[in-house]
Amino acid sequence: MELACLDLEGVLIPEIWIAFAEETGIEELKATTRDIPDYDVLMKQRLRLLDQHGLTLPQIQDTISRLTPLEGAAEFLDWLRERFQVVILSDTFYEFAQPLMRQLGFPALLCHKLEVDEAGRIVGYTLRQRDPKRQSVRAFQLLNYRVIATGDSYNDTTMLTQAEAGILFHAPDNVISEFSQFPAVQTFEELKRAFIGASNRSLTI
Ligand SMILES: [Mg+2]
Repeated sequence: MELACLDLEGVLIPEIWIAFAEETGIEELKATTRDIPDYDVLMKQRLRLLDQHGLTLPQIQDTISRLTPLEGAAEFLDWLRERFQVVILSDTFYEFAQPLMRQLGFPALLCHKLEVDEAGRIVGYTLRQRDPKRQSVRAFQLLNYRVIATGDSYNDTTMLTQAEAGILFHAPDNVISEFSQFPAVQTFEELKRAFIGASNRSLTI
């Protein structure tokens, strides 16, 4: 039995924080896990910036409501779901992901949760567990699934390592050269072929 585990932002949807940084003009909000590998350090910086600028969850959700999945992402996901069970493993938050998940047909999503006060201010967050993407893959392997995983950034590399096969997709050059043990592809057509190549079944495009 095979399971496909996909990262979300940068793979199927745009980077939410970058979109919000562009709308608000706050340059420092553009930092992602590509720039700051420690997710806790990154999130604390983001929450501090939101506070400094008096920005709330409804304002971020307003930006997200205007985003669409990356071109070809919905079609790719449909293709993949005909051939694999698919679970999305993300470091985003359910409060952010919902409108985009609707556009992708609500695939299974494991991610984190925000803590929000009555005024809509994001006061904290609950990470589901430490190293959640790798732990999820481990758990699926205990259920006798063989896992093929794909992601674009530092926060995906332990997941890619734990999986039976890991594929970098849309990754920047620094991640590709630092993790050269993984094949790296840039288009959904190449990603389809990489999944077929990593499968132990004889699948066709
Ligand atoms: Mg990503």
